[in-house]
Amino acid sequence: MSGKLFDRVALIGIGLIGSSLARVLRRDSPDTVIVACARRAETLEAARRLDLADEVTDDPAAAVAGADLVVIATPLSAYAEIGRRIAPALREGAIVTDVGSVKSAAIRDLAPLLPTAVHFVPGHPVAGTEHSGPEAGFAELFRDRWCILTPLPDTDAGALARVTALWEQAGMRVVTMDAEHHDRVLAMTSHLPHVIAYTIVGTATDLEESLKSEVIKFSAGGFRDFTRIAGSDPVMWRDIFLNNREAVLEMLQRFSEDLTALQRAIRWGEGDKLEELFTRTRAIRRSIIEAKQA
Ligand code: NAP
Repeated sequence: MSGKLFDRVALIGIGLIGSSLARVLRRDSPDTVIVACARRAETLEAARRLDLADEVTDDPAAAVAGADLVVIATPLSAYAEIGRRIAPALREGAIVTDVGSVKSAAIRDLAPLLPTAVHFVPGHPVAGTEHSGPEAGFAELFRDRWCILTPLPDTDAGALARVTALWEQAGMRVVTMDAEHHDRVLAMTSHLPHVIAYTIVGTATDLEESLKSEVIKFSAGGFRDFTRIAGSDPVMWRDIFLNNREAVLEMLQRFSEDLTALQRAIRWGEGDKLEELFTRTRAIRRSIIEAKQA
């Protein structure tokens, strides 16, 4: 679906997600003016070189001046400071949205700072890779993935519809849900798997040298898939765990109880229990493939 939805878009953060959205806008809405904001000169240089933006700046307030859409696409720990800096510069009627992975934290850090004449639509495009930075993005990243928007009770319906249209333009299926519910769902589907991957890869790096080299050599036996997940951006994932602490700890508690049960089944040679569990998990894998989310 092409067409211009916004005249001037400020992307605060032009990494994997921000630059992928910039590429969608370039493809489908070439008349939209894009302003990219990041801290480092090399990031802004890359944004220019890759033609991801018409203007670049390291000043969030300058970036949002005159924008009808502002998309915050930085790690969560930067939100409060960005909110403070952009608040006085936002145009009346502007829409502010974000792509952060923990929605209650995004609302906590941004909503109190934004002027009442601005519409805030928190969002999370559930699509990604383990790579970061402006070079890592691509327009097709969002295709056929889900985007979860977590509007507040007073979020303007028109603003919600426009942000929905933006992500639909990127090829996403858009749903709305309560922020806390989003954070519990993602704690299970995304955050817990990252905890597990970080732990397994961490355990492997603690092994004695000779064993470690064999682990890398024969990694195709399953370990390799965990290293991909554990290769994700350290700052982004630090922020996710610190900001979704309760939901992650809840899922981790359930996981460790199930792990103990599995450990017992292995210890007591309960093959039927193992087979029953692995049959159920295989069915889940098949349903993910059928839902085209593999
Ligand atoms: P990324 O590739 O590391 O990009 C982050 C961008 O933000 C960079 O351009 C960085 O440039 C800029 N930035 C960092 N701090 C800033 C600040 N204080 N002011 C202005 N710019 C700043 O990260 P990403 O993967 O796109 O993730 C961005 C957000 O999307 C995160 O909140 C994450 O939770 C969410 N998300 C990620 C994924 C995923 O799989 N990666 C999926 C869905 C949602 P400088 O370093 O030059 O400032």
